[in-house]
Amino acid sequence: MRLSQAYQPTLKEVPAEAQIASHRLMLRAGLIRQTSAGIYAWLPAGLRVLRNIAQIVREEQNAIGAEEILMPTLQSAELWKRSGRYDAYGPEMLRIQDRHKRELLYGPTNEEMVTDIFGTTVKSYRELPKMLYHIQWKFRDEIRPRFGVMRGREFYMKDAYSFDASYEDAEKSYYRMMLSYLRIFRRLGVQAVPMAADTGPIGGNLSHEFLVLAPTGESGVFYNNDWDSIDWNSLPLDPKKDEDLDKLKDLVANSYAATDEKHDEASWAKLPDEKRREGRGIEVGHIFYFGTKYTESMGVEVSGADGAAFHPHMGSYGIGVSRLVGAIIEASHDDAGIIWPEEVAPYKVALLNLRPGDEVCDQLCEEFYALKPDAILYDDRSERAGVKFNDADLMGHPWQAIIGPRGAKTRTIELKNRASGERLELTFDDAIAKLGLK
Ligand code: ATP
Ligand code: MG
Repeated sequence: MRLSQAYQPTLKEVPAEAQIASHRLMLRAGLIRQTSAGIYAWLPAGLRVLRNIAQIVREEQNAIGAEEILMPTLQSAELWKRSGRYDAYGPEMLRIQDRHKRELLYGPTNEEMVTDIFGTTVKSYRELPKMLYHIQWKFRDEIRPRFGVMRGREFYMKDAYSFDASYEDAEKSYYRMMLSYLRIFRRLGVQAVPMAADTGPIGGNLSHEFLVLAPTGESGVFYNNDWDSIDWNSLPLDPKKDEDLDKLKDLVANSYAATDEKHDEASWAKLPDEKRREGRGIEVGHIFYFGTKYTESMGVEVSGADGAAFHPHMGSYGIGVSRLVGAIIEASHDDAGIIWPEEVAPYKVALLNLRPGDEVCDQLCEEFYALKPDAILYDDRSERAGVKFNDADLMGHPWQAIIGPRGAKTRTIELKNRASGERLELTFDDAIAKLGLK
């Protein structure tokens, strides 16, 4: 994309209500615009990040055998009356009436709907297990929407639902999902630690929250630093093998991690000093096993091997896709701006032409840009070099490729790594090889 033509409304003045770095940076870098309290429009660069995150989530969910569906945002109140949650959910639920005075609601989550769909389509234990997910907008009328997309009212969530024949099978689905989550967060370039959690209004008895470590997080966290060093994506754990899921279960049970709400001083005291890490975290995901709560209340049964009908066991598994955009920035920024991890960045490279109008400079920039226009944001504006450097740092693309009139004569490019600040003087060919643009 050419920056001179791009819709990238960077802001100089940030509204006073933006209290935390990610909210300020998302407004300054032109990723979002608020349209009403807790509701945002996603601008081109922000939408690219949102889509990149959703795509990683999708790939890793598919990799454990979950199948993608898409359920609507509007739901019938009838479904929620069947589960008994219509009254229980309270004022966070946005209730709507259609022209026939039928009660609808804007879904805050989808347990009821997916249970109903499953119940009317799956009839036998032979069809189990099933794992379905969708990535869809949710609405919760939060009493105090704040911190930009971190606590919005309308937000983008991946929610998955598992259906199993027994507790033992459901527990496998649960840990399979946990492995998928650990891999998702690693690929997103953040460290997220699963912590035992209360099950809240969803109900049930096995639950973990995933917290991204960031100094501005809402929760205090205490954890064993073993969590810092595990690379989930290269660890040879196979989500299809039961014994590997048992290994993960043991690992989680034996590596202490808790939010301040659940922190247990006695277990903490048993850890040697050098293993203890304290910090703050942002909840980006939450997984639950809740047994037959919904299949029972909504009357969903399948026939068993012995012919007798039973209620399948369920779990539900959420990831806050739009919250993650803010959480990643909280975990990865500096005074100059955002530092995007490679896989989520709107563009991999910002190409800075330091002298637009200079023939040699323009030519080399065009040659570079033509290699992969979709991965390069080409700053071809007639602005001062200082403005371009500042904007590139603010927008946070992982690499800056800097071409000035002097270097252009010898086909030399300066590469700057946004995260480390490291600068390299390379020939054109070496630079594009280094960036994987060829
Ligand atoms: P919180 O405790 O932060 O209010 P929650 O426990 O109510 O979240 P869940 O029902 O577990 O949220 O939803 C799954 C995920 O959806 C959360 O882990 C979070 O990442 C995201 N999420 C929940 N509420 C919001 C919101 N208001 N804005 C943005 N993301 C949200
Ligand atoms: Mg939660």
